Amino acid sequence: MTQKIKILDPSEAIKIAAGEVIERPAHIIKELLENSIDAGAKNISLHLQSAGKDLIKITDDGCGMSPQDAELCFAHHATSKIQTVHDLSSITTYGFRGEALSSIASVSHVELITKTEHDTLATKIVIDHGNKIQTSNINHQTGTTLVISELFKNIPARKKFLKTDETEWNLIVTIFQAFALRFPQIFFKVFHNDNLAYNCPATPNLKSRCAQLWNSSIHEQLLELSAESHESIKISGAISSMHYYRFNRGQIFTFVNNRWVKNSEISKGILKGYEGVLPFQKFPAAFIFIDIDPKEIDVNIHPKKEEIKFLHPTTIQRVVQNCIKNQLETVATRTLENPTIEKVQNPFVFTNFAFNKKDDAIDYNKVLPEAEFKKLPTQSKLNHQDIFKTFNLIKQENPSKVEPDTNITIDDLECFNIIGQLKKTYLLVEKNSDLILIDQHAAHERILYERFKSTSKKQEHVTLIFPHIVKLSADQVQLIEKYEKAFQDHAILIERFSDYEIIIQATPVQMTGPSAAEIIKTVLQWIETHQDLQVDTILQKLHEKILIEKACKTAFKAGDLLSIEQMQSLLVQLQQTEQNFCCPHGRPTMWTLNLKDIEKQFKRDYVGSKSLF
Ligand code: ADP
Ligand code: MG
Repeated sequence: MTQKIKILDPSEAIKIAAGEVIERPAHIIKELLENSIDAGAKNISLHLQSAGKDLIKITDDGCGMSPQDAELCFAHHATSKIQTVHDLSSITTYGFRGEALSSIASVSHVELITKTEHDTLATKIVIDHGNKIQTSNINHQTGTTLVISELFKNIPARKKFLKTDETEWNLIVTIFQAFALRFPQIFFKVFHNDNLAYNCPATPNLKSRCAQLWNSSIHEQLLELSAESHESIKISGAISSMHYYRFNRGQIFTFVNNRWVKNSEISKGILKGYEGVLPFQKFPAAFIFIDIDPKEIDVNIHPKKEEIKFLHPTTIQRVVQNCIKNQLETVATRTLENPTIEKVQNPFVFTNFAFNKKDDAIDYNKVLPEAEFKKLPTQSKLNHQDIFKTFNLIKQENPSKVEPDTNITIDDLECFNIIGQLKKTYLLVEKNSDLILIDQHAAHERILYERFKSTSKKQEHVTLIFPHIVKLSADQVQLIEKYEKAFQDHAILIERFSDYEIIIQATPVQMTGPSAAEIIKTVLQWIETHQDLQVDTILQKLHEKILIEKACKTAFKAGDLLSIEQMQSLLVQLQQTEQNFCCPHGRPTMWTLNLKDIEKQFKRDYVGSKSLF
């Protein structure tokens, strides 16, 4: 009998193990950045050639290593960071298994130069694919430099798996960006093929770090986050405003207890927070730091992996979603809050509507049915008295007309001064000292969208007396049959009429056949442009898309003359609507001109602060 089993030579075994830890340059860079940061570096520079395949050089000004430590650091399981396996759970540094340097040295040519502040000379060690070939002393500043070349020369199979420079570089960039975001107080420089790719001086501020990593336009679009849920989950960081989006998730970074992680619950929470704010398949920028009791994280997850599991995933998702939603809303609606009563400035328009929120007679939560809302008399037919009656107006600045209600405090009142309509498209509203322009279509669309969303399940349809025929292409007729049920759920009943026609048999109460036809056409176009997606994904989104189109087709249009009551009702409803700062397509609903800016425009600030004589 011959012996088949052989024990691998330790040098071979370590190569195999190394191949598992280190698959590509990006992994090496991650380990090296962790080591430099653990060493307390304030300045770190990286030089790469061919996305790290030909050369990785890292220089830091951290604590460095003594000659003895420099000799030891390449040994398998050599670490200054833990003594026993029990330490693993409490460790606070980033790399901690004492495997990185030994693995890297076994699959490449490595030069280490390192010096502590207590030594006068630096130690230089050269290791060629696991074999030490040189140790010497040279002059070098305190800190550590590692130069890594000939990666995977001795494991051609691994080398073959490396992707193009572009792909490898993109992976490196993501890892680098995560470190740069996590440590804005460290000065990072990255050179690629002798070009300075990133220059990130230390900054106390996450937003400035983002500007260094991308460009200054992102800086203006970032809103800071700071919140704590009642489950003691703390969230900080920054997210992009509703005016900003990306075509991929490249600007979404999440950190849990200061470690960069990937987690689908957090991602879902982020995207849900932006639901109805960003266009379909567009992504925000989000740099989110979550602080949570470590007991809430599944400890069985490999500490080195970027993935992480939560014990209560839905809680995390909800907390992240709410935090983002609240922040987007707070920023956008700041101008519609904290009203005060203004003096009547302009007797010629219907000024200063004051509402008593506590007055039972006015139930602002009860929104007017669509048809009634639109039927309200238009501006021209109204006089002051009508308006007061309709809205139970209880206080205004001219007490001779209406008895003031003495029970009402200023805090109870919401006060707008509607100046009028511009081009039958924008409402002009005076609020505190600001001038707010409101896009009547966008605003109404958002109101209706939110309302439909909360009531769509119970919506009833009305059978049309004259069913409406819609001409389509043969492909479209087939396509719509696939998604017929989705329309049915929204009370739009359709049937195939011929190879090129469908027939609308019923629509929701307030909708006409032609506007249902428009919705069908727009939604079909949308399905056509997203046909490469899975049917399930389309179905999921279809519901929202139909809601949006329904809101769009039912809302006031630009060019509709609105009565003061309609405007007033629109404002009150808008104020009570979620995400009221933009329409469901993502367009803004309002724009505020601040009094200060107006005064600046007229150079009033100048006159006020300086004497002209
Ligand atoms: P680990 O980081 O898990 O301890 P490594 O193989 O990455 O394992 O590093 C081994 C040891 O080498 C570290 O524990 C640390 O003491 C030392 N070391 C590595 N890189 C540096 C550095 N840039 N500056 C100072 N010491 C370092
Ligand atoms: Mg390490």
